[in-house]
Amino acid sequence: MEETTGKAAPFLGQLKSDSVADCIGATPLVRLNRLPITLGIKARVYAKLEYFNAGGSVKDRIAKRMVDQAERDGTIKPGDTLIEASSGNTGIAIALMAAIKGYKCIITLSEKMSLEKEQILKALGAKVVRTPAGVSVDSADSIISVAHRLQKEIPHSFILNQYTNPQNPAAHEFGTAEELWHQTEGQIDVLVCGAGTGGTVTGTARGLKKRRKDVLVVAVDPLGSVLAQPDDLNEIKAEYHVEGIGYDFVPEVLDPAEPDLWIKTCDRDSFQYARRLVREEGLLCGGSSGATIAALVQLIESRPDLNTEDKLFVLILPDSLRNYLTKFADDDWMMGQGYGSL
Ligand code: PMP
Repeated sequence: MEETTGKAAPFLGQLKSDSVADCIGATPLVRLNRLPITLGIKARVYAKLEYFNAGGSVKDRIAKRMVDQAERDGTIKPGDTLIEASSGNTGIAIALMAAIKGYKCIITLSEKMSLEKEQILKALGAKVVRTPAGVSVDSADSIISVAHRLQKEIPHSFILNQYTNPQNPAAHEFGTAEELWHQTEGQIDVLVCGAGTGGTVTGTARGLKKRRKDVLVVAVDPLGSVLAQPDDLNEIKAEYHVEGIGYDFVPEVLDPAEPDLWIKTCDRDSFQYARRLVREEGLLCGGSSGATIAALVQLIESRPDLNTEDKLFVLILPDSLRNYLTKFADDDWMMGQGYGSL
């Protein structure tokens, strides 16, 4: 039968926005269907697709909230310069807000982070200042030190500061967590979430635990980072290539007591599982998304009691494959790094 045209479905009216900033939040929650079966996981596993946000990552939520609050406080006004140290996604998110509201934007970005992120930042009109990879946070060359130096030099400039700004976890306490609660109809049992600044895991844990105290919150930290608790989990010193999770200091917005459990993951597993999320589930996610699967596998091994059909797991997929086309999305890069092919 021919499809009828003419009358648009009524919900399409809700898809009309005054600005692309309204296309942040309310991201889809999608069931994984193939991967859990091959991994022997009986529980229902859902992924929160944060790459559906306007700027392509979970960090859009915090940029919108930090900019709105700073405008309300009168600390910034259009024409000012927003400076931020970032592993890329917060930078992109702030550059997007800056583009639509008329701010100038400078992002400090370690050489470790992908060229794709730099290209998106520049396309949004931001200036990118690259800093050396692998330097400690207190070095004069770190992303944070350079951002502060620039802020002192540039008149009418301001650092929103995702590492200390309470709007970072608040965006997840009042946004991400509430969405998850309603999307799962209150059935969420386990949240698995990577930690960079720790804003996502801290805020989402706070929000969910207000609803139900016994939701198990699992934070994911790469080997080589120091965020995990207890501290002895961090003894292995390693370099890691996965972007956006892990740090060499504990940011103020991370409350290490909020997660119930920390799990360490390695690059190889993170990238392999990210590739499998793309290939087997059609989810065009980034490398830190793969780390949540790596953590899920470890969790199920150590807690087989959680692996039952009635349990509902949620993984946060923070960003998109688009950020890594020349990195783990590329077979030659994977082989060159010794991570193997699919
Ligand atoms: N994954 C990616 C790709 C990210 O860019 C970030 C943000 N640094 C995270 C995970 C972790 O988010 P958060 O800073 O809220 O801990």
